[in-house]
Amino acid sequence: MEFGWDDEHSGYRTELVSFLNEELPDHWHGETAILGSEANTKYSRRFAGLLAERGWLTPHWPVDFGGFDASPWMLAVLGEELWSRGEPRGPQYMNANWIGPSIMANGTPEQQARYLPPISRGDVIWCQGFSEPDAGTDLASLRTRAERDGDVYIVNGTKIWTSYGDVAEHCYLLVRTNPDAESHRGITVLLVDMPTPGLQVSTIPGVVGDHSFNELIFTDVRIPVANRLGDENEGWTVVREALSYERVGSPRWARAAFMLNETIEVATADGRTIDPIAIEAIGIAKAACEAARVLSYRVIDERARNIPPSPNGNLARVAMVQAERLVAEACLAIDAGHTLTYRSPSNYQFRKSLAAGVAAGAYEVQLNLISRLHLGLPKG
Ligand SMILES: Cc1cc2nc3c(=O)[nH]c(=O)nc-3n(C[C@H](O)[C@H](O)[C@H](O)COP(=O)(O)OP(=O)(O)OC[C@H]3O[C@@H](n4cnc5c(N)ncnc54)[C@H](O)[C@@H]3O)c2cc1C
Repeated sequence: MEFGWDDEHSGYRTELVSFLNEELPDHWHGETAILGSEANTKYSRRFAGLLAERGWLTPHWPVDFGGFDASPWMLAVLGEELWSRGEPRGPQYMNANWIGPSIMANGTPEQQARYLPPISRGDVIWCQGFSEPDAGTDLASLRTRAERDGDVYIVNGTKIWTSYGDVAEHCYLLVRTNPDAESHRGITVLLVDMPTPGLQVSTIPGVVGDHSFNELIFTDVRIPVANRLGDENEGWTVVREALSYERVGSPRWARAAFMLNETIEVATADGRTIDPIAIEAIGIAKAACEAARVLSYRVIDERARNIPPSPNGNLARVAMVQAERLVAEACLAIDAGHTLTYRSPSNYQFRKSLAAGVAAGAYEVQLNLISRLHLGLPKG
């Protein structure tokens, strides 16, 4: 196989890199570069707005919704370059990658007119209300209840680990509308305005990063039926499609590779000797980042050829988690002091890697799927 970027994609990469080189140095450092910090969330609005002005925030969206039908490869170039700088879109990559497309695919014309323009302008933060105290990996067991009362749903229940729940304007919320149905049936998606009376948001301090964890408690919260995305009790189909974009939509290996290079640069500039153990760890980590990159390209290739999502996505996700973890280990081997110093770049990578195999699809579950779907082993 011969793989190379064609003129269109490499030309786009050059243009994008030159924009990033111009925009980022003045802003993208210190607190601003810490994903989830106050400064980061504020800056993400400026940055996403600048991308939007150039048509680069939602290039893959259809023309009717403000995009230009860019190919999955162009989106891959965009993702790689942004994640390899630490993802200056902040939480807004989620809007562009899967929340917007999910509203396009399932929303009413009124919902599309209301929610999509702020996303494509880069002017809104969404959170995802999926996990509950007793529903994480087994998401279909969620219990937050929505009961219909005329033209509203009355919602009661608790969501947990909701990233950006404290700063978001909207929540993409999964609720149970039919408690008697089999677990995958009876789930519905609601698009919730934050704040709404009866919805209490509290931050859960965590080691992973700012704004990472919040708890959302719903007490008799009234959500208009008009805010339902897709049909009642059909939310599982809606969200499965949305999640298939989320799992490999973020090239986290690119950020990991960037953090590794930064750590090497800082250590070398400090005059530190990189010992043989660290050199071995760097080699292993770099190889893992490359493996994740190539496996992700297989998934992008499928998407570009309109092949339905395959188990290659599970392989790519496992490789990505391993890359993040191995980079964290390499950072420790290169410079343990900085890596354990709160809020240094390598410390940030180290803390993020702790969550790599948990958020966006548990690592162990991906391994189970690979053993069944790739290797044909029986279900354990
Ligand atoms: C940084 C971060 C941000 C997050 N942001 C959000 C957010 O914005 N919105 C949201 O809704 N949620 C969010 N989450 C929650 C995340 O989706 C859940 O943590 C995840 O789904 C796992 O659920 P759990 O924590 O309940 O663990 P559990 O599901 O209880 O799993 C615990 C362990 O058991 C293993 N396990 C579970 N089932 C199996 C199985 N069948 N086979 C093998 N092993 C298994 C898992 O791999 C895991 O190691 C976030 C989590 C993190 C870490």
